Amino acid sequence: MKNSRFLAIFVVALLFAPPVLPEFYITLLNYIGLYAIVTLGLVLLTGVGGLTSFGQAAFVGLGAYTTAYLTTVHGVSPWLTLPAGLAVTAAVAIAIGFITLRLSGHFLPLGTIAWGISLYYLFGNLDFLGGHTGISGIPTLQIFGFEFKSGREFYYLIWAVLLVIVVATRNLLDSREGRAVRALKGGSLMAEAMGVNTPRSKIVIFTVAALYACLSGWLYAHLQRFVNPTPFSLTQGIEYLFMVVIGGVGYVWGAILGAGLITILKQWLQDWLPQLLGQSGNFEMIVFGLLMILILHRAREGLWPIVLRYFPERARRPRVAAAEALPCRATPLAGSILLDIRNASKRFGGLVANDNMNFNVRAGEVLALIGPNGAGKSTMFNGISGVDPLTSGEIRFCGERIESLAARDIARLGMSRSFQHVRLLPTMSVLENVAIGTHLRGHKNFIHAACRAERHEEARLLHEAALQIERCGLAEHMYDAAGSLPLGKQRVVEIARALAADPCLLLLDEPAAGLRYLEKEALAELLRRLRAEGMGILLVEHDMDFVMGLADRVIVMEFGRKLAEGLPEEIQRNPAVLDAYLGGVE
Ligand code: ADP
Ligand code: MG
Repeated sequence: MKNSRFLAIFVVALLFAPPVLPEFYITLLNYIGLYAIVTLGLVLLTGVGGLTSFGQAAFVGLGAYTTAYLTTVHGVSPWLTLPAGLAVTAAVAIAIGFITLRLSGHFLPLGTIAWGISLYYLFGNLDFLGGHTGISGIPTLQIFGFEFKSGREFYYLIWAVLLVIVVATRNLLDSREGRAVRALKGGSLMAEAMGVNTPRSKIVIFTVAALYACLSGWLYAHLQRFVNPTPFSLTQGIEYLFMVVIGGVGYVWGAILGAGLITILKQWLQDWLPQLLGQSGNFEMIVFGLLMILILHRAREGLWPIVLRYFPERARRPRVAAAEALPCRATPLAGSILLDIRNASKRFGGLVANDNMNFNVRAGEVLALIGPNGAGKSTMFNGISGVDPLTSGEIRFCGERIESLAARDIARLGMSRSFQHVRLLPTMSVLENVAIGTHLRGHKNFIHAACRAERHEEARLLHEAALQIERCGLAEHMYDAAGSLPLGKQRVVEIARALAADPCLLLLDEPAAGLRYLEKEALAELLRRLRAEGMGILLVEHDMDFVMGLADRVIVMEFGRKLAEGLPEEIQRNPAVLDAYLGGVE
């Protein structure tokens, strides 16, 4: 079944539900809708961005309490309390995000638990919010004389809001900013090297998820017309996470499925378990716990991928269309010095990985950096590209000092790199991976993306990515998942991604490793063409035939120091090099 037909059936079913269903099921559907709005935020935050939050219920509370307080105490119109609630939530989310999103590993979820609890107690302890008894008498919503007074009317509002959010979320994910967020999951190192401001991306998705929660809270307050702190507790925060993990944390529809399943199941279990067991209690939570463990063992990705198995999926991967070419950087003068490294040193504790290195790279040349394993070549690359800054020394790139700049700022100046250990997003297509390289060449933000107002720019970015894929000889793999390619070809995808940034200096760490003979030939040919176009290329490579046939100059490193520098034929004859590096073998 096509996605669009699935959506159409879903919408029609939604439209005709209220007249035929009994009140009880309408109420249930309303709650599912409200929960799904929150879980969609978790899809963005946890499923896509890899950030786990237990604290979403507190943001629901912010939305609910803001409108409850302003409408009952100050008589503000509910339509004005919505923007007010969103503003309060955004401010709180940005403040909390700045503090907690720096935390990594299990510290981040712990951080979300901490502020989740704090906000919950804040709601219960502020007198003007009614303490633990809460606020009642919240007015109904009215628009053009129409009053949303019962669940049946409210139903349409909730599900319309949910559908709008589904569409906005899907648009967001399918955009330049969405790719940047998805790149977070592959580790921020690569994303930063491609120019993504990863702290900003994290704060943005955190705030978006909080705003979804706030919207759900605002709707909740006007549906219930009464709020108290209970539904905004940590327990509810955990339940939201349950929903999204069980439904499928990486999938927009998985979030809705999860919200539906848990809500219905909870209702049934609450009705049946006490009867079955002959005593009252929250037995459903025990069942949920067991269910969660089962899901984590059997279906890590949640239930939505299992549903997809029965509906042959039409891959929703972006396709390339004809588009205007992107503007390019001015090519530096051939022979001018692009990169100038002076007295560069890097220490890891007692280990000196780079010891007083001096060299430069010119426009239109290939400089090879060779040396035995552990000589310090990758460390040098990381120092130059800002991924792991030097301990001391100076680096000038295009005349600017860069040794203390962030990787993304160096990328902006026109330096692009590949990684020795391939850093691609394996489930994304080759096209999408390479498009991450174009990040700095687009300017439209999240809001443009959510409303699809960046389609023109997006088409140009994808077009550029496709050009680089063709240039690197990977056209036949354009729409394949990057992880399905052999490792050698994945390295070439990394080169295409680096080229998509329109660099003037390319840093390639072992690009030929894992390639077959003919593929190596093709790669060497590509690098020769780039050199002829004026690109500077700094290359680390172990394949001596490849290096000697391609490089203009060679630098040999050993124990972090420069052992020799010269033309390839000089290096091949240098006794010190032969002795140390090649072990004296011809
Ligand atoms: P090459 O790329 O030339 O094989 P590397 O630059 O990867 O060498 O490593 C140089 C030395 O620095 C090695 O001894 C390695 O163990 C050490 N090293 C590299 N990265 C780190 C790190 N993050 N922490 C500690 N030691 C490191
Ligand atoms: Mg290395």
